[in-house]
Parts: sequence; C-alpha cells; structure tokens
Amino acid sequence: MYYVSTRNRNARLTAAEAIAQGLAADGGLLTPEVFPLLAPNALDSMKDMSYQQRAVYVMNSYLDDFSASELSGFAASAYGPDKFDVKEVAPVRAVDGNTYCLELWHGPTCAFKDMALQMLPHLLSASLVKNDEKKTACILVATSGDTGKAALEGFRDVKGTCILVFYPKDGVSAIQELQMNTQEGENVGVCSVVGNFDDAQTGVKKLFSDEPLREELAKRGYFFSSANSINWGRVLPQIVYYISAYCDLMKAGSINKGDLINICVPTGNFGNILAAYYAKKMGLPVGKLICASNSNNVLTDFLRTGVYDRNRTFYNTMSPSMDILISSNLERMLYELSGGDDAEVRRYMADLSASGRYEVSDAIKAKLTGLFASGYCDDAGTQETIGRMWREHKYLIDPHTAVAFRVLEQYRRETGDQTPAVVASTASPFKFCDSVLGALGVTELREGTGIIDQLAEVTGVAAPAPLASLKDKTVRFHQTVTREHMVDQVLEMLR
Ligand SMILES: *Cc1c(COP(=O)(O)O)cnc(C)c1O
Repeated sequence: MYYVSTRNRNARLTAAEAIAQGLAADGGLLTPEVFPLLAPNALDSMKDMSYQQRAVYVMNSYLDDFSASELSGFAASAYGPDKFDVKEVAPVRAVDGNTYCLELWHGPTCAFKDMALQMLPHLLSASLVKNDEKKTACILVATSGDTGKAALEGFRDVKGTCILVFYPKDGVSAIQELQMNTQEGENVGVCSVVGNFDDAQTGVKKLFSDEPLREELAKRGYFFSSANSINWGRVLPQIVYYISAYCDLMKAGSINKGDLINICVPTGNFGNILAAYYAKKMGLPVGKLICASNSNNVLTDFLRTGVYDRNRTFYNTMSPSMDILISSNLERMLYELSGGDDAEVRRYMADLSASGRYEVSDAIKAKLTGLFASGYCDDAGTQETIGRMWREHKYLIDPHTAVAFRVLEQYRRETGDQTPAVVASTASPFKFCDSVLGALGVTELREGTGIIDQLAEVTGVAAPAPLASLKDKTVRFHQTVTREHMVDQVLEMLR
C-alpha cells in the first residue's frame, strides 16, 4: 500500500517513507492511497485478542513494509504494563444503559496523546532503518502542555532518535511544567522559552528552516524531524482503539456484531475523530460521528454550514487542548470527501491561507451532514457536566471529556437518536485538578502538586501513579532562553 499527498496524488511513498517524512514536500498530508477493509470475520477474531494483538492486526493492514513480528514487538513495548496502568490499555466503561466511555488516558502521561506517541517512536525508528538513514532524528517540539510530555515519554531512549521540547515559560500549568522538567531518559532535552506559546512555536519553526544550523547538525550526524499530530504514524494507532472498543462491547454482550454505535469525540486538531472516521471506512459499524467543540467552535459551524472560517475570537477555555482555530487534520477529511480530488483540496487550502476561510462544494456538504453531527459547550456547561457526572454516576471526568458528554446529550435531545454511543475520554481528571475541583464546588485550592492529593481526598478516587509520584521526582531541566537563543540550546544539546 502506498501513501499520497492530499495535495498531489501522483507522488507515492511507502509507509516507512511517509512516517519518516511526516509532512508531504508540497505541504499536504500523507494519506493511504486506498483503505483496507476489515475481513468479514475480523471483529470475531479480534474480540478475544489482547489490545496489543488488536493493534498489530489493524496496523499490519496499513504497513506493508513492516512485518507482523516487528509490529508485535512495538505493541508490546508501547502498550505494556510498565507503560499503561490497566491491562485493557484502553478500557470501555459503561456509564448508563446505552452510553459508554472509552478511557484513553491510562498511559504514562495520563492523556490520550500517549496512545499514539507511545507507538510513533517505534514506527519512526524502524522507518529510518528501512530507509537506510544513518543520521539520528532530532525531534523538535513546541508544546502548550500535553503533547510535549507525551512525546518525551514516547521518544525517551528510543534508538536513532533524540528529542528536544520547548515550552512557553508563561504558558503551561505548574504540574505540566514539573512533568516535563522531571523527564527521565538519556536522549531528552527540555527548555522553556520566554513568552507565550506563539513565541515557542515561532522559534521552533525558525529552527526547522535555519539552513546553517541544518548543515552544522548534518556534520554532527543529526537531522530534524517532527512528532506532530499530522504524521500518519500518529493517526494510525488511533484507529485501533475504536475497533478495540467495538470488540469489547461485543464481548461484554452490550451489542451484537453488526449493531451500529455512535462515537462522540472532543475535538481540536481533528486527528482523533478522523481516526474514528477511518475505522468506519474500514467497515466498523458506526452510525454518526459526533464532533464536540468548546467555545472555539469553528468545527461546529463548519460541519453544519460547509463554511470554515477561522476569523473569529480565540478563547482560552478550561479544555485547553481543544483551543484551536486551524484543525490541520481536516485536510485529510476533505481529500476523502472530494473523492481524492487533490486540485479541489489545494483550492480550499489556498483560500484558507489567503483569507482564513473556505467553503466546500455542495457534494462535500451533503457527505459531511450524512457522516457527522456536531455541537459545542462553553466553560459553564463543562463545569456543570463534570459536577453532574460525579453526582449521578460517581464518574470523575476531565473538562475535555465533559465537553463530549454535554454535546452527546444535546445531540440526543435534538434528534432522539438513542443508538449506543461511545464517548472518547481524552485525559485523566487529575491533569486538570483546579477545573475539576471547581466543578465539584471546592473553592480553596492547594498549591502546586498538593492539588493532586486534594482531588484524591475529596473524591476518594486514586490519582494515577505518574501524577501522584511527581512530587518525589528530581527536576533535571532548569534552562529558560529567549527566542533568539533557542539555536544555542540545540547546539549545546546535540554536541
Ligand atoms: C489533543 C487533545 C484533544 C484534541 O484531540 P485532536 O486529535 O487534536 O482533535 C482533546 N483532548 C485532550 C485532552 C487532548 O490532549
């Protein structure tokens, strides 16, 4: 199977090339040329498999140039008991008779990014060998919080790679900062940048395009790479857990094979919900894909009207990982729905960069309406939902997950559609203690990591070990640089 750019379907790459490259040379996203279909007995076969085996089964159908035994090794390291605190890896919890929650945060950094960022480093490292790349890949990341830590954990001590994370000094929570600065591993580096996320992001982009720096690093045996969510190696591992959830529901007798389920996803960059769409395209019985947004509701409007318009107020919300106005992975969806018309995708993307706006064709609008439902929820609604889920179901959820539950409720009220629904739960509530405690009515919050114990005491729910143990970890990284000095930091680390 080959991979093509959403902006040029004639340039074909192997899976290993697509993963090593990340982004297509023309700026498009690398996407499978054709999608594999689930065999008629696939769900029955996978029902009795472990999560690791399901991952191999699904990923193998996309990665011709990787063997099943290779993938088994990756799945064992990525999703093993030393990384995930439940053996199901991505367990499905019943919330009520027809609502299920797919918990994607049992990994080392307690957010769903682990599901992909535990696997990507193995895929990338093996791809470099397959491509006969002799240099070490230096992964550069600018992060507003969750991605940086998940990437550090994923790439730590992975052969042929090293990773350097820049975060904004004024832009991450105290706990997120501590999570990153206590990172272990021989091939990792962390540094804060004076300013906000834009400063860090702009600085990293400048490093990528700094020719003298590239030449110097090539001499030293390094090249830059990215762990960005548009890499195919991050989307593919996410398809697995939707299929796995369906198998778990079959196994529990909650549904019969062939029954439709709806899937509701709290969405930012459109990667997670795109993976759910690909699972449906492979033949998983999925009814509606429900796209949940916070007050940055550019996707709600787009899915309802066919007009994507980023010219709007940006809100900082209590679900910060969804505070996004350009959802990069949407480009893959447009490619799909245009029937692989790369010229049409190029037009939309050109409009987006010129005016921040595009309007899709009537044909695409009709397909979007058929596939997706959408809705959004503000901070007040998010808080109310966290409080109510706790009171009514004794189920503690984070603000991102709360947005999804709220939008699912709205959808059911508006449509009467009572199809069993799976809600993607994307972070542990203990990553967002202040918002969650606030939603539970607690007004006096403890300082620093004390807030983790406080949420555990108030609810009687145990904090995940990686967060509970933070207070005992040694801080390894202290550097803060200005944007202009990021380059020195790179040269210092890659000596
Ligand atoms: C990244 C993230 C999201 C958004 O996922 P996308 O794939 O960007 O749509 C939602 N919730 C949490 C907790 C995240 O970290």
